[in-house]
Order: sequence, then C-alpha cells, then structure tokens
Amino acid sequence: LAIPEFYFQVLGANSALPTRDRFPSSFILAYKQSRILIDCGEGSQIKMAEYKIKRSKIDHIFISHMHGDHVFGLPGFLNSLTLSGRKKAIYLYGPTALKTYIDAVIAATGGHLGYELCYHLLDTDEVTDLGMVCGLQVKAVPLQHRIPTYGYSFTEVMSEYNIDPLKIKAHNLPRSEILLAKSGQDIERENDTIAYQDVTLPPREMRSMAYCSDTVYDPSIVPAIKGSTLLYHEATYLEELRDKARERMHSTTTEAATIAEMAKVDTLVIGHYSSRYVDVNPLLKEAQKVFDNTMLAVGGKKYEIR
Ligand SMILES: [Zn+2]
Ligand SMILES: [Zn+2]
Repeated sequence: LAIPEFYFQVLGANSALPTRDRFPSSFILAYKQSRILIDCGEGSQIKMAEYKIKRSKIDHIFISHMHGDHVFGLPGFLNSLTLSGRKKAIYLYGPTALKTYIDAVIAATGGHLGYELCYHLLDTDEVTDLGMVCGLQVKAVPLQHRIPTYGYSFTEVMSEYNIDPLKIKAHNLPRSEILLAKSGQDIERENDTIAYQDVTLPPREMRSMAYCSDTVYDPSIVPAIKGSTLLYHEATYLEELRDKARERMHSTTTEAATIAEMAKVDTLVIGHYSSRYVDVNPLLKEAQKVFDNTMLAVGGKKYEIR
C-alpha cells in the first residue's frame, strides 16, 4: 500500500501588507484526496487559481485568528463556492468572532450562500481535541497573540495494518483472515491462533503537521506540538527586533527555531515575514543557526510531510 500523499502548500506567507509577490497568510494542507484550507488572507483565491487548486475539494477551513491578513479572503472564497454551485456544507473552525464576521459580511453585502456553514467555534485556553477531519486527528492549540488565536495540529491515524505479502502464502490466509489481521484482530483457527502482528508489517510512524501563526514566543505550546514531522511557525522579525516582536506579540526567527528545537520536530517552515524585509534570506540564516532543518515559506511551494 502506497503511503498517502501528505503535504503543506503555501498560498501566501507574508504578514499584514500584501506585496506583488508575497501574499498574506493562506495555506493548503493536502492529505490523500482532501484539501484543507488554513487561514484565508486576501488573494487566496487568486493563488488557488494560479496553483490549480480546486475550490470544490475544500470542505474544511481552519482560521487561526481574526486579524485581516488571515481572513480578508474568506468571504470572497465562500461567495465563489455559491457561484460555482456548491451544495455540500463547509466546516469552519476558529475563534467565536469568525461567525460574527461572516454573518455581518453576508448581511451587509445582501448575499446568501447556497450551502450550509457548520461552525466549530473555539473559546478556550486549553489544548482541545477537534476530532477526525479528512482522516487526520486535529487539535486546537491556544496561542498568545493580541486577540484570541489558535494553532492547529494535524496527525495521521493508522486506519489499518498492512499485510506482509510473504505471510499470505506461508499461512495460506483467505481474504476473510486477511481482513481480520488488517483490522488488528488475531486469527482464530480450529487448532491455533495467529497473532495479527505475525502477519502484518510493523506500523509505520504516523506523520503530523503543526501550524502556529500568529504568536509571541511561547514555550508552553511545546508539549502540544512535540515531535511534529513539520512545524510551520511564524517568524515575523529578525532577532534584532525582539522588542518589537514582544510588543506586537509576534516571534523572531531565533524564537521560532528555539520552539522547533524544543519540540524536536523534523522540519521547521518559517513565514509571516514583516513586509519590511525585501530579502527574507537573512531570516532563514538566522533561524538555521538554532535549528538547522529550517525552510522558508515560499508562495506555491509544497512541503512534503514524510
Ligand atoms: Zn498575521
Ligand atoms: Zn495577527
């Protein structure tokens, strides 16, 4: 069985001011055939068209917080779904003001949606289990920012074991017994029992992705994102602007890399760059001093989670 496709794609990873080639926060998390939208800054739809991402594939949208650079693209996106004839519900996750915002925009613009919006509104200081979404176990992780903000972690769940093809022959397993072992049950035969571990391959390590933007440096999130295969963490400023980062409740490169180091993630992707940086390579170099396997979020790029 092939390992399912799992990647994180950047639509935009700039902070507040959109520039010609750097759009505000918006990301796609792809798992198997599903596409999850994370934040929806201005211009998200333009980037989806450019990168050939089908709107109709998106059923779930996770919003970190209500700052405009994360939500100004959302009403337009929802409206486009109606225009393209969508009937299936959309599931929205985010702070309580998310519903207030969407209701107000729809009412003020005299619009209507041709499908249902199902909200999962968050108002908590605790890490919260949001259940299974598209085959991924999702948790909301409260972040420290100027308004209520949540990070999200997405973890693969192994739905079944893979059969060791050599054992099918060795034990003469019929389809019924293969299905039993795949589901993790032992095979009971008249005179003996075959443990499912004896005929299945060792479970592969489950992959996960954590999204933390926007946030001040906050080591208390480390347990919730520990061991993530890929961590996206904002790094709005270079270390020389640490005071500014504190004041605006953002992180520096060094701080993002320190979180990655403490959480022992495999790969760190940094983004949410302040538009003051024309060249973002110095941000990368500074983060890599603390956490070597750091990458820059670049529009359009896919980061495989493996
Ligand atoms: Zn932001
Ligand atoms: Zn913000």
